Amino acid sequence: MKVAIFPGSFDPLTLGHLDLIKRGSALFDHLAVAVMTNTSKDTWFTVDERVAQVKEAVAGLDNVSVITAKGLTVDLMNKIGADYLMRGARNVDDFCYEKDIAAMNHFLDDQVETIIFLADPKYQYLSSSLLKEVALSGGNIAPLLPANINEALQERLKKRQIKQVKKENEETR
Ligand code: ADP
Repeated sequence: MKVAIFPGSFDPLTLGHLDLIKRGSALFDHLAVAVMTNTSKDTWFTVDERVAQVKEAVAGLDNVSVITAKGLTVDLMNKIGADYLMRGARNVDDFCYEKDIAAMNHFLDDQVETIIFLADPKYQYLSSSLLKEVALSGGNIAPLLPANINEALQERLKKRQIKQVKKENEETR
């Protein structure tokens, strides 16, 4: 049985991530999407929120599960019996970053096989961070997200905009 893991921050999950999950689910017998908690990023959504969002987005894919974990991905892989580590690359910068992570994971556990998927050309420019930046400036990012996640993002956007206005008011006082 070929079991793979797809770890990431998914803050939030975009259609670029979802495309990879669909391709991974066709390739492996089981795919565990792991929402990692040990990210240094300033996230918009809590881990529980992200897990719920991803679960809803992958609901139609029977061989995909959603888990959460902190610590080393290789430890998580041993725990759940995964042999394949799935990641994505949109461009050369991503590839260089991903190949270093793959080499480090291979050093930690030489049984780990990293498979790097090339991004679908229509999502090559798409990252969660750029998407949030555009949303903050009023851009329409709905076509780039699963519907449930777009709704959650619009809600969070309102809260962040209110927070931003309060901060600006305090600074001008
Ligand atoms: P991390 O913080 O671990 O990089 P991300 O959620 O940003 O988590 O990304 C998880 C993985 O998905 C990474 O391998 C990243 O390169 C890949 N990825 C992100 N966006 C896309 C996209 N639009 N198309 C293909 N792969 C992507």
